[in-house]
Amino acid sequence: MSSMPKKPEIKTWKDLKYGGVLDSGTSEYFHTGDWRSKVPIWQQKNCINCLTCWAYCPDNAVKTHQGAKGVERGEFDYAFCKGCGICAEECPVNNKVTKELAAANPGITPSSGHGMPGFDEKAAILFVGLKEAKEKFNVK
Ligand code: SF4
Ligand code: SF4
Repeated sequence: MSSMPKKPEIKTWKDLKYGGVLDSGTSEYFHTGDWRSKVPIWQQKNCINCLTCWAYCPDNAVKTHQGAKGVERGEFDYAFCKGCGICAEECPVNNKVTKELAAANPGITPSSGHGMPGFDEKAAILFVGLKEAKEKFNVK
């Protein structure tokens, strides 16, 4: 899903030599999501719509819309998501699940519990590799 506006005739960072300068305010015209090496996956069924991920995302890559309950979380905007993982780290649902996992498994520190039994079913955001994102969740 992308909200990328039409790109004007300006160069990308890939066209510049060292020391080049770009005009400011142009990042929304470029598909900066191709920097990612990991991908957040939203599991709507577990989301409590707290919008913490929206507030913390440094790239405005968590979309919102007006819904029946007011402002509601939407999908990730993968055109701009850099895969930093901040949303998954700050999500209170994820934190609750990792705390439960840590309490039930003394000696482990599940900072990101993806792949652990009990985490994937309950988490609101999974943070997965590119291959898994493409093959399992159809995110390019
Ligand atoms: S991984 Fe980072 S850039 Fe992508 S949506 Fe989450 S906080 Fe935003
Ligand atoms: S994904 Fe997590 S942080 Fe984002 S709105 Fe849902 S519960 Fe809140």
